[in-house]
Amino acid sequence: MSTIYNFGAGPAMLPQEVLLQAQEELIDYNGTGMSIMESSHRSPAYDEVHQEASANIRSLLSIPESYAILFLQGGASFQFAMAPMNLLGDGQTADYTLSGAWAKKAIAEAKRLGTVHIAADCDKDRPTRVPLPSELDLTAGTAYLHVTSNETISGAQWKTFPECEAPIVADMSSDILSRALPIDRFGLIYAGAQKNLGPSGVTLAIIRKDLAEDAPDNLPSMLRYQTHIDADSLYNTPPTFGIYLLTLVTRWVSAQGGVDALDARNQEKSGRLYDAIDASGLYRGAAAPEHRSLMNVTFNLPTEDLEAKFAKDAATEGLKGLKGHRSVGGIRASIYNAFPGEGIDALVGFMKAFEGANG
Ligand code: PMP
Repeated sequence: MSTIYNFGAGPAMLPQEVLLQAQEELIDYNGTGMSIMESSHRSPAYDEVHQEASANIRSLLSIPESYAILFLQGGASFQFAMAPMNLLGDGQTADYTLSGAWAKKAIAEAKRLGTVHIAADCDKDRPTRVPLPSELDLTAGTAYLHVTSNETISGAQWKTFPECEAPIVADMSSDILSRALPIDRFGLIYAGAQKNLGPSGVTLAIIRKDLAEDAPDNLPSMLRYQTHIDADSLYNTPPTFGIYLLTLVTRWVSAQGGVDALDARNQEKSGRLYDAIDASGLYRGAAAPEHRSLMNVTFNLPTEDLEAKFAKDAATEGLKGLKGHRSVGGIRASIYNAFPGEGIDALVGFMKAFEGANG
């Protein structure tokens, strides 16, 4: 097998052990004589997988029983609407932090449904960053405070979460399971699976159960968190194969030592890349140093032409997906939990050689 390091922002690299196990079990899952993909979502074989997925998430993030763990569909983009549909009541205001492109999308959906107050706006700041908890202008009695814990495109990440009266609603699509969380500050956490949890098609939602009870009566069943809580995410057919892969990924996270061990590894991996950027005369980090993401390392070269050449030359050496998001350009190295340390070595080596030839 040729060695390709996929720096793409998502779907992203999965642990190789997980892919190999899925391959081995693909056509005969656990002696059932059929694939888990072909098994009923009501079968004992699938139910075991489903229960383990949620138990593993609960244990890895130390989530108390007062929260439900849900496997939904529609991606984080659907949560941009589902969260305010359920949690933003008539006459209430929700506070949102505007930290970049993903926050902006969440805000646009919430505005269709209710009153939104922007508690902090650093969207246009360069270097890119997210707000500091101390900068927030919160509404008294706000329904919730929305944050995008890691802005995948700009490469800026919340390092500490605000301590406020209102529950935090967090889009953790690009850094879920990468570190421990002060779970009691959150009312809702949501994340598409395709970066740190498994394949696309599954959306994880972790919701404080009492908050789900107040959804408006006219909200259709599929759009209500309460429906999915009551049915244990089996109200309709869930994305069973994706949840099976997510279960394997959560086992892998445990085997690595859990989220604290991954956090340390993520600091180390991203640190090596940021050190390479800071030591060079050619590369310039896109995010403010104190907000630098451990998951998406973004940087620029002096010209767009040179950035294009960098991404193209890197790809020919098996370092794929380094081109920054089309809306901002630059270079982005997405290095989620499963991205191997050897891939960092390979990129640092490439950066040095490229600077030697083009600096
Ligand atoms: N939020 C963030 C922070 C993301 O990175 C992404 C996807 N890259 C999304 C939301 C949208 O996710 P989905 O494609 O699962 O709807």
